[in-house]
Amino acid sequence: MAYKWDTAASNWLEDNNGQFALTGSDGLGRIDWQGPALARVRDVAGLLGASLPGACHCASIYPEGFAYCPACGNPLQQPDAAAPHADWWGAAADPFLPRQLPHGLPVTRLPLGDSLERRPAAPSVGRAELSMAPPPNAHCVFAAATFGFAQQRLLALAPKRGVLQYFDPAAQQWHVLVAEEPASGLDFSASGYAWLPALHPSRGEVAIVPTAHGLRRLFFNPIAETWRTEMLFDATLASAPGALRRHIGVLFVGRDGVTRLWSVEADFTQARDYPCAGAPASGWTAPFSYDGHLYWLHRDGQLIWQPGQAPQYLPWPAPWQPRLELGGPTQSRDGRLWQLGHDGQAYTFLELGTVTPEQEALDGARLGFASLLFRRGHAVVDEPWSDARVDDPHEDDSLVLPLLRALNDHRSQPSGLVLRLHQYTGRAEDALATRVIARTTVEWIGRRNVILDDIARLARPQECTALVYDGALWLHHPDWNRIRGWRLEDAS
Ligand SMILES: [Zn+2]
Repeated sequence: MAYKWDTAASNWLEDNNGQFALTGSDGLGRIDWQGPALARVRDVAGLLGASLPGACHCASIYPEGFAYCPACGNPLQQPDAAAPHADWWGAAADPFLPRQLPHGLPVTRLPLGDSLERRPAAPSVGRAELSMAPPPNAHCVFAAATFGFAQQRLLALAPKRGVLQYFDPAAQQWHVLVAEEPASGLDFSASGYAWLPALHPSRGEVAIVPTAHGLRRLFFNPIAETWRTEMLFDATLASAPGALRRHIGVLFVGRDGVTRLWSVEADFTQARDYPCAGAPASGWTAPFSYDGHLYWLHRDGQLIWQPGQAPQYLPWPAPWQPRLELGGPTQSRDGRLWQLGHDGQAYTFLELGTVTPEQEALDGARLGFASLLFRRGHAVVDEPWSDARVDDPHEDDSLVLPLLRALNDHRSQPSGLVLRLHQYTGRAEDALATRVIARTTVEWIGRRNVILDDIARLARPQECTALVYDGALWLHHPDWNRIRGWRLEDAS
């Protein structure tokens, strides 16, 4: 006779042969235990916090909390009680940055430097010591979190194809998750992509995601390998959503074709919308927030919104045009924000967030964001328009592209992860767009500079995506057949 076991979160059925089948678990909906879950029993046990056989082979899995095999009395393997890993929501989605920094740019508070700087310093050239298969849909954003489960897992969402992918760490394999309702979609390509992480997730809750058919809450079921969404705002979205304190805002196209801003409180009450006269209906960067305002940038102008008030769309002052592909906004010492662009004669920084912006002229393009700036191979410290600090004149022949800034309160100059494109003296725009760079090094810039790896023939370097997962820093590029990884210690 079958026997039922109920744990805090799950229901199990023990059959006559002493095998346990999961029949239900909080937040997971329908469970087909004969399906994919049985093939991934080690992964499933980790997710649920269930026990695995130790010395015996009486059953393939045991309910949560079982310490001994009920059939033979041998001890079981219980889930790893190691310290949890820090969450990762993409380079631009660290929700725990201090207020004086812009949020929404690739800046992390994880102490990556403390670990990476223990490696041999430049000019010693290191190598990635870890490797992971890339997801089958390789143009994607990553999130590593527990999503309400017992252990951290890695998800990769490919927005242009609307595909959600799940990494099974026990088998080192990606699985493409299937929509529970075939009609729903996750694709979004109107503007730059960003999602809003669920910071206190119910089981399987991922994020608020923009889609071609509105703003949705995304949930997944890693046991059944499925996903589902709940509609939050049904509209044609013009941008990715942004969050500021307890407010969420997103641009959409109204029935009259006019771009509008929709806002809601974090508990999904008090929805409002405002017209944004003159604002484009697509092509926005992912938003960032700073000093009580949310910003979306566009080739044609900036949209600024202070929650509770009407948004403001400001076209750029002609003939100035932004160079959004070269970098995001950066701060000056007095705390104002600036965007790199070109006024037809020269590169300049334009002040953001004001109807009467100042401009500062430059001697050439700068790459970077959030005060992690480089003029060719040299760091720019002090003001964004200050002369570059030339430590080594040979670096005139290289171009440094910042990928991720690491926040460190104890250092006077920004540190972070960069790519150094060697022997390149052409325009920065060309290096990022069309060129194949013969030699690129992955470098950590900090108290000590560390060369983490050496890459031959790199194209479209901005498609490199950094992620922190399972106690390691990883670097992914859609062209590579492996994701490269560097082990971190004390980086939780
Ligand atoms: Zn046993």
